[in-house]
Amino acid sequence: MKISNGVKIGGIQKTTLIDYPGCVACTVFFCGCNFRCPFCYSSELVLPEKIKLQPKISEKEFFDFLRKRKGLLEGVVICGGEPTINKELPGFIKKIKGLGYLVKLDTNGSNPEMLRKLIGMKSVAKRPSASSLTSLPSRGSSLIDYVAMDIKAPWEKYNKSAGVKVNLNNIKKSVEIIKNSGIDYEFRSTIVPTIHTKEEIIQIAKDISPAKKFFLQSFRPEKTIDTELEAIRPYSKEFFLGIKKEIAPFFEICEIRD
Ligand code: SF4
Repeated sequence: MKISNGVKIGGIQKTTLIDYPGCVACTVFFCGCNFRCPFCYSSELVLPEKIKLQPKISEKEFFDFLRKRKGLLEGVVICGGEPTINKELPGFIKKIKGLGYLVKLDTNGSNPEMLRKLIGMKSVAKRPSASSLTSLPSRGSSLIDYVAMDIKAPWEKYNKSAGVKVNLNNIKKSVEIIKNSGIDYEFRSTIVPTIHTKEEIIQIAKDISPAKKFFLQSFRPEKTIDTELEAIRPYSKEFFLGIKKEIAPFFEICEIRD
């Protein structure tokens, strides 16, 4: 899925104290996603028939807002939907960085080449041309300052959890790119009782470990893409604490998020 006529902004959260660790930020939500996670509660940013109905915010409005908030906000969280399906993303982020903001990217990890570009790493898949080399930021001049990647399931169950056939190689590449990026990062998994068993959650941790930060978060049974999940009760706090005890040694930081 490619969106080519400029980024489509489906909303802005004007201030967040929790989405960008250590940073007072705003969040910009991009329309469009290449996954259909059954537990997703942002269907208005994912399903084309709902995106059509979603009021859009122009880039001009967004950047006017950022200019006005200079000195009050420190960072911008870019999430979706899935931001990396927009080929205009690097240019969009450059403009944000030009205003002096830190940038955090939330991604499902399906586009490792975009991640490489944003982080400023050279591709190892093919030799870049001289012209593409000049357009890439050099290593150390990353366009993003923090990246949060969703891990949907253990590798062998990825398609079920993402709701589409996923190129697993791309997901694994993204995990490695992020771990070797030198920028701050986290992995996180949204946990649903009918999708993830205890053993599978532990397997997720094994699949991505060792890593810096891993967060487990309970799904919210509200306006989910698969409406049947709205009747499912999330796992208990005790369940999560038991798993945390088992997987914490794999990570520098391992926490449960509400
Ligand atoms: S939860 Fe899944 S479907 Fe929803 S925005 Fe994230 S990747 Fe897309």
